[in-house]
Amino acid sequence: MILIDGKKVSAEIRNRLTKETAELKSKTGCAPGLATVLVGEDPASAAYVRIKNKVCAEVGFQSFEQNLPAETTEAQLIDLINELNRNDAVNGILVQLPLPNHIDPQKILLSLDPGKDVDGFHPINVGKLVLGDALLTPCTPTGIITLLDYYDIKIAGKHAVVLGRSNIVGRPMANLLLQRHATVTTCHSQTVGLEQITRQADILIAAVGRPHLLTSSMVKKGAAVIDVGITRVDGKLTGDVDFVSVSEKAGFITPVPGGVGPMTVAQLMANTLQAFKARNNFAGEVGSQIFRREEEDEAKVV
Ligand code: NAD
Repeated sequence: MILIDGKKVSAEIRNRLTKETAELKSKTGCAPGLATVLVGEDPASAAYVRIKNKVCAEVGFQSFEQNLPAETTEAQLIDLINELNRNDAVNGILVQLPLPNHIDPQKILLSLDPGKDVDGFHPINVGKLVLGDALLTPCTPTGIITLLDYYDIKIAGKHAVVLGRSNIVGRPMANLLLQRHATVTTCHSQTVGLEQITRQADILIAAVGRPHLLTSSMVKKGAAVIDVGITRVDGKLTGDVDFVSVSEKAGFITPVPGGVGPMTVAQLMANTLQAFKARNNFAGEVGSQIFRREEEDEAKVV
């Protein structure tokens, strides 16, 4: 069994981004800029935003931190987003979710410039992902594709089973896997006979948020098992996979913490650089292709 080390891969991506940013800066005099928008004082959201800004500074990006009070109105937030949309120094805008109840997250997403939507949640970017033509794709599932590539886990022709169908993880995950020519099954809360399906998976991705839902009997020997779940149990971060038993059967497995989690932030930075390059017409790999080795000719695959 090979333990997938998300911390190591994330550090490698951040190093690459740091180098590339320094090169771009010396050529053009400017660096990518990321704006984080936090409304209210939810401690978990505030912690996520702090990490994002820390990594942003680490890789040499400009960060534009916008911390707004909980009573900010929807109109005020849209005004701020419009201002960030117009600001040429800002290449990526991240609105930390969840937003307070009086603000409709869909309206906020729609107000974002899709070219700056580094979370990949704007309906235009979701549509492009479904069409197989997106530049900015959601960070967590894209980071998972990067992990599979880094460990040279073949995707094309494999049966990938995704547990969960959220807009943040499950659905974009299934689309990214399909784009890489996997045969994809999505399971969710209404799926009947979960175990029969998961046992067929060469690549098994759990994004549910139920500690230890996935046990050894649900896994095919040698499968690559990716655990997205994060639930705090007795103060400890716990995944959806029963790590001890499943690791005896899996060919590859991610730990929690230290697996998928660190990839999400690295991917956010990769997306921001991608948005910067697209804006300035620089060439470069697309977000989910950093370590890609498979060489299918996309033009010939239908
Ligand atoms: P969500 O609550 O929006 O979605 C959960 C999904 O699980 C739903 O689609 C539901 O249909 C499905 N589900 C429920 N019971 C199921 C079952 N028995 N079998 C199969 N599917 C079932 O959650 P989310 O936002 O997609 O997040 C999922 C988990 O991933 C959470 O623990 C979250 O904290 C974690 N997460 C981690 C990262 C990261 O960076 N590591 C990022 C996002 C989310």
